[in-house]
Amino acid sequence: MMSACPDPLWPSYRAGARLTVDLDAIASNYRYLQTLAAGASCAAVVKADAYGLGIERVAPVLEHAGARDFFVAHVDEGIRLRSVVSETARITVLHGPRPEAAGDCVRYGLRPVLNSLEQIATWREAGLRAGTVPEAALQVDSGMSRFGLSGADLEALQENEGLVGGLKVGLVMSHLACADTPDHQANRAQKERMLEMSARLPSAPLSLSASSGIFLGPDYHLDVVRPGAALYGLAPNRTAPNPLSPVVRLQAHVLQIREILPGDGVGYGLTYRPERVRRIATVAVGYADGFSRHGAGQGCAWFEEICLPILGRVSMDSLIVDISDVPEGKLGPDMMVDLIGPRRSVDDVADAAGTIGYEVLTSLGHRFYREYVGNQKNPSTGD
Ligand SMILES: *Cc1c(COP(=O)(O)O)cnc(C)c1O
Repeated sequence: MMSACPDPLWPSYRAGARLTVDLDAIASNYRYLQTLAAGASCAAVVKADAYGLGIERVAPVLEHAGARDFFVAHVDEGIRLRSVVSETARITVLHGPRPEAAGDCVRYGLRPVLNSLEQIATWREAGLRAGTVPEAALQVDSGMSRFGLSGADLEALQENEGLVGGLKVGLVMSHLACADTPDHQANRAQKERMLEMSARLPSAPLSLSASSGIFLGPDYHLDVVRPGAALYGLAPNRTAPNPLSPVVRLQAHVLQIREILPGDGVGYGLTYRPERVRRIATVAVGYADGFSRHGAGQGCAWFEEICLPILGRVSMDSLIVDISDVPEGKLGPDMMVDLIGPRRSVDDVADAAGTIGYEVLTSLGHRFYREYVGNQKNPSTGD
């Protein structure tokens, strides 16, 4: 017979690992970035489920910390966000209105970024059908060749003012390709190109910088900055220590401990073979949890201050670490080791896997027990 579960923490015992998300750290990172970009307004990018951390939990905390402007990638994400932030929050959809979804942008009060002449036409048609054309953002391609109006598109708009007639432009934006490399000459070139292009459009607040761009200095802040990664604790560049507070911790349960001898092999392919006697532990996180198969061999997990090198290949649901340096009896089955934590950042995990912190964060699995700590306030109740 099913019965109510007496222990509120029971799911953590069922899951292989616990992912802790520090909501206070997110709020404090937001406030830090807003202070750094004091001349601008600081928006919050919460696409991809707030970089994998849970948009329903994260967005209200950002709003409580002062964010009024939110960016998502897709219309669907905007609709999901609409129900967890207040009505006055402005939600901008980076990918713009695809023809079938333009009506939903109008219905849910989402502001699309218009990236092409086609999207401008789509938005005007959707607006006219609704009786009025709501505000939109315009993106110009200042050099990344990904999204936005080209120089030729701007000429077409200048020659035929009817194309932007009736359009309310609330923001003109562009995106930097090399902002994480502060000395890169493309940064200045893109900024100049953006200013030149925006001068040919209806006047509106300007936005160029995401997380890394904020750290290029006030010249790059313009009117609105759009950080995502930095809110979640990722380093804006590698030229200075990371000033942001870490947000996530990933602790995995130890499932089994054994001793291995020279001649034994570890994991798929038996790619690790010890030269001396080793004590090893199998822990409950694998590549199906977003802990990349490429990350083995270079990284380590941690138990308190002790580094536990990852041995052999990462399996789907588990990986194996060397616990020989842990005094015997101190680490037993069912205890937890840190895979991401005070001694190993998301960026460190990414380095070991040959990728970037963005990819590690957004790949973190959904079968972890997730615990949100810190600001548990629900801003909608005002407490
Ligand atoms: C994802 C994204 C951002 C946020 O970038 P971060 O590097 O995570 O701060 C800002 N602007 C645009 C257009 C984006 O696609």
